[in-house]
Amino acid sequence: MEKVIIVRYSEIHLKGKNRGYFERVFGINMEKSLKGLKHEIHRQSGRYLIEGFDEADEDTILEKLFKVFGIHSLSVALKVRSDIDEIFNAAREVCSDSGTFKVETHRADKTFPLNSMEISSEIGGRLLSVNENIKVDVHNPQFIVNIDVRENGTTLVFNKFFKGAGGMPVGTSGRGLLLISGGIDSPVAGHMIAKRGMGVDCIHFHSYPYTNLQARDKVIELAKVLSQYTCGTKLFIVSVTHIQEEIHKNCNGEYMVTILRRFMMRIAERIAIKNGLQALITGESLGQVASQTIEGMTSSNSVIEKLPVLRPLCGFDKDEIIERSRAMGAYEISIQPYEDCCTVFLPKHPVIKPALKDIEAEEAKLDVEGLIKEALNSLEVIHL
Ligand code: ATP
Ligand code: MG
Repeated sequence: MEKVIIVRYSEIHLKGKNRGYFERVFGINMEKSLKGLKHEIHRQSGRYLIEGFDEADEDTILEKLFKVFGIHSLSVALKVRSDIDEIFNAAREVCSDSGTFKVETHRADKTFPLNSMEISSEIGGRLLSVNENIKVDVHNPQFIVNIDVRENGTTLVFNKFFKGAGGMPVGTSGRGLLLISGGIDSPVAGHMIAKRGMGVDCIHFHSYPYTNLQARDKVIELAKVLSQYTCGTKLFIVSVTHIQEEIHKNCNGEYMVTILRRFMMRIAERIAIKNGLQALITGESLGQVASQTIEGMTSSNSVIEKLPVLRPLCGFDKDEIIERSRAMGAYEISIQPYEDCCTVFLPKHPVIKPALKDIEAEEAKLDVEGLIKEALNSLEVIHL
């Protein structure tokens, strides 16, 4: 009797003739997420089995798999030969000590001498005969003993379905660049887009020495959390210190955030295109703060030349975003109080509905191209 983990996948089966490709990417993603842990992954019709792992690693493996997009559900099962006595021994192991239950059998192997109904009633009867504290309740059982007789002469016996992360395998919807700030929102935005199958790299802009190195470490930690879902991520780090100084020196202070955002978008798009990334992703949510009005978005959008800008949080309230941030394991890091570059030189009254022509007039006071080139020279890349 061997412990195995059954991985069932979602949505992938909807993809018709792309199915093979989706399954391949999904398999590679699971391999990546289990890297360093002893295991084997085997594909069976419509599911994967994780086998050959150390039982001590079971929880760690499950925890990692819970972060793999494309997984619909997981079960820890006992794998035995398709033999009624062996199946019974396994059923005894997974059966609770007391309460109501039923046995549910799925039989893929039509050569097995008993049909599913017969297997269920045989195993149910035997379980009752060895434990008087359990009772059958087919309509509303407290637990279910699941028996899955596979085609290959083995049977899987288990009692629980754990919900997986859902979504689609990361990498099946291209790859994008997330503008990650150290706040609560952007990691959640990256997580949501990854769930739709997009690989995610990150770019962070800092204003060292106005912002400190802890702020940078915080972003690295956040990108690491995200990378558990994205099967690895590259973090691009770019200094906008001189850009902020120049805006501060030359432009109306009210436009600091607006103009800085436009620089960020331009730089992000250039780095994305150079690295073959197909979209920009931000954590903006409509109307959340002064810079996130539709006018603010129009302003930052208008400097983008080629790529779509994905803003998955646009329809969310802050408390929904916080809930997602907690669930993905980013919240405790995001709330650490280190300054983001946008808060440096922050004006008392930022413009809330910036008119494009006013922004462009302010921006014309700067050597935009020169500043972008200089910022790109500060580029640093960390592989996570
Ligand atoms: P977040 O919680 O992600 O910081 P926020 O609600 O604080 O979002 P803003 O600070 O206005 O909103 O930023 C809006 C978006 O702009 C962020 O979600 C992020 O995508 C991007 N952004 C802001 N600051 C930076 C930065 N320093 N580096 C990279 N991207 C940034
Ligand atoms: Mg922020």
